[in-house]
Amino acid sequence: VNPEISFSAVSEIARHMDAADPLAAYRDRFFAAEPELIYMDGNSLGRMPSAASEKLEHVLRYEWGERLIRSWGEEWYTLPQVLGDKIGALLGAAPGQMLVCDSTSINLYKLASAALRLNLGRRKIVTDRFNFPSDVYILQGIASQMGVGHRIELIDSRDGIHIEMDDLLGAIDEDTALVGLSHTVFKSGFLYDMEYVTRQAHRKGAFVLWDLSHSAGAVPAALDDWNVDFAVGCTYKYLNGGPGSPAFLYVRTDLQQQAESPIWGWFGEDSPFAFGLDYKPAPGVRRFLTGTPPILSMQALGSGLDLLEEAGIQEIRRKSIQLTQFMIDLFDAFLAPIGFELGSPREASRRGSHISIRHPQGYRINRALIDEMQVVPDFREPDNIRFGFAPLYTSFFDVVEAVRRTVLVVREERYSKYPPDRSPVT
Ligand SMILES: *Cc1c(COP(=O)(O)O)cnc(C)c1O
Repeated sequence: VNPEISFSAVSEIARHMDAADPLAAYRDRFFAAEPELIYMDGNSLGRMPSAASEKLEHVLRYEWGERLIRSWGEEWYTLPQVLGDKIGALLGAAPGQMLVCDSTSINLYKLASAALRLNLGRRKIVTDRFNFPSDVYILQGIASQMGVGHRIELIDSRDGIHIEMDDLLGAIDEDTALVGLSHTVFKSGFLYDMEYVTRQAHRKGAFVLWDLSHSAGAVPAALDDWNVDFAVGCTYKYLNGGPGSPAFLYVRTDLQQQAESPIWGWFGEDSPFAFGLDYKPAPGVRRFLTGTPPILSMQALGSGLDLLEEAGIQEIRRKSIQLTQFMIDLFDAFLAPIGFELGSPREASRRGSHISIRHPQGYRINRALIDEMQVVPDFREPDNIRFGFAPLYTSFFDVVEAVRRTVLVVREERYSKYPPDRSPVT
């Protein structure tokens, strides 16, 4: 088979799928400086919504430039709650339980500390080897600082892609204080059954803390209905908030009175502008705020959230599954025959919105894609090339092009001129 002919056939199919895609028009709502660029890294840094630059222009000139400190009272002060509630709507959380603040790592620290203090009689923390390293470090740090002998159990994967429910549930016992997991894991894209795991953890008396960083904006959730205790996640991935935009946190209403932030900052105090000297936590979720929020980043985030709300998270998930399924079909046809292995689940219900493909030369292939093929995926050790599918701007044609150019890199051995040494950021 001449691969070029096959690619022209699948390109044709992709063009039809794009023409029938109800979300196709959203692509034009994002800034695109290089129309030929196949951007497959929206799961690491989402594209910039065009509205974000207009909004920031207004924020700079009017809110900051003209209104100055008066803007705190006019809009800024309540942004952590206002934006938190918007994210809550995407994740099945009623208002009053989410905040936008700090980074994911810091929010994890605050909520994991709070959870462990609510369950002080217990000593075990359960997570998995697929969790984002920062999440594991944060848990290790808390265990060390609390100094009461918490131990962390890291569940292993049997196949490098999934976590077996039996292995996870077998580790959650009467001594387990907290189960902390990424809903969608960052390498393989494996997606936990959040409702089921939460219910099983509760049966043993453990709290759950979900990291939704790789889910928010691509995979829906029903945090309230599933009785989730705590959650965090970042906003610069599928929520398109921009580099370093602040993260979110969720604390279920009935836990808010007992749960306590380990960082007693003035923004989490009951009445910050009374300037009293004895800390009294704010009554609701606001007690998990720390200090002055980064307003420029928060205002940019609002534009990304508006787009998601308008498109509808169920529609986004539907297209995400179509995109990742299309990628797997193309993988089977074009990539498996030239030495790639699929590093992601084949079952749609068990995968998020990115697909990992594995190859012994993965690092160098990824370099060649970025440097000379105008394809931007990313690389995760030891051999994963990750393709992220952001349903608001990834087209089916992008998927074909990403695969076609990957095949070219391998067939023409374009990767061979790149050294295997890792650069500091991949
Ligand atoms: C992206 C990501 C983070 C990032 O944390 P920061 O504090 O924003 O650097 C943390 N955890 C997971 C699971 C992620 O995917």
